Amino acid sequence: FFFFIIVKKFAQDRIAPLVKTMDANAEMDASVLQGLFEQGLLSIELGPEYGGTGSSFFSTILVVEELAKVDPAVALLCELQNTITNKLFITYGTEEQKRTYLPRLTGSFCLSEAGSGSDAFALKTRADKKEDYYVINGSKMWISFAEQAGVFFVMANANPSLGYKGITCFIVDRGTEGLHVGKKEDKLGIRATSTCPVTFENVKVPKTNILGQLGEGYKYAIGILNVGRIGIAAQVTMYPKAGRIAATAPRRKHRVVVIGDPLLRRYATCQGLVSETLWRDCRGSSGPLTTTPCYSSMWALMIL
Ligand SMILES: Cc1cc2nc3c(=O)[nH]c(=O)nc-3n(C[C@H](O)[C@H](O)[C@H](O)COP(=O)(O)OP(=O)(O)OC[C@H]3O[C@@H](n4cnc5c(N)ncnc54)[C@H](O)[C@@H]3O)c2cc1C
Repeated sequence: FFFFIIVKKFAQDRIAPLVKTMDANAEMDASVLQGLFEQGLLSIELGPEYGGTGSSFFSTILVVEELAKVDPAVALLCELQNTITNKLFITYGTEEQKRTYLPRLTGSFCLSEAGSGSDAFALKTRADKKEDYYVINGSKMWISFAEQAGVFFVMANANPSLGYKGITCFIVDRGTEGLHVGKKEDKLGIRATSTCPVTFENVKVPKTNILGQLGEGYKYAIGILNVGRIGIAAQVTMYPKAGRIAATAPRRKHRVVVIGDPLLRRYATCQGLVSETLWRDCRGSSGPLTTTPCYSSMWALMIL
């Protein structure tokens, strides 16, 4: 109980005053990241031996909800770190990998590519074996927190003749030669999270940096994304409480106004209407998602 009071207070005192600026600048304030580490919110389920609080997955979900009420972008960082990065290390990592990476660094999960989104295992990134290391070549897209990440989990195929059963998860340090983080996407929402392309040009990775077993990466990806989805659900269900849609509404209206076609313009105006109505609802709403204030947003959506 006290833990959640602390999280709530942290969100109100340290995050809330920065939300608008972070969203406008599409930049997470360094003090927020530092604060999350200091409060143990990026190591919720890790045992004390890895600097964590040894709490439960349920606690992680409650913390994500609490943060998302104030800023869904910050909640996403907390969600990804706890349900993906930390879980991958704890479940499949060697003791040395755990000691090296936990809990000091934030991680990015690099699965998607320009030609493989939903069909994730069609990925083209390759890892070619040389003596006691691998050479990774390929390009990943839409990688969350790539700008801030200290370590990358890279899904690459180490044996394409086996199809998806060649997919292996490699741990790649940020400073590794040949790893490039590209320009972040100019998103409409959760703008304080960076979403970037990441390319690998002859990136040399020692075989000791394989996470778990060779060729098991596809299993890890499926498993970990199933856990991550629960965290994402916790984050998005709190959007109406955060009311941060307001921050994107003016941008959306501004962008679509240049569309010449009258039908599209009408659609665009309605989009703005929905956003603004939802914003008004959220500000007035202190109850759960299903209470009356949300109805006017539903009406706006129905007009659409
Ligand atoms: C903000 C953001 C952050 C992200 N962060 C990460 C990250 O950290 N790491 C990472 O690896 N990826 C990340 N992604 C990528 C994300 O995982 C992909 O966007 C997702 O897998 C969907 O792929 P896609 O965008 O290529 O859409 P597509 O796969 O092209 O799908 C488009 C639409 O078609 C539908 N569809 C697709 N295939 C079929 C089918 N066979 N039958 C019927 N319908 C189908 C889908 O449901 C969807 O509605 C991120 C994306 C976003 C937007």
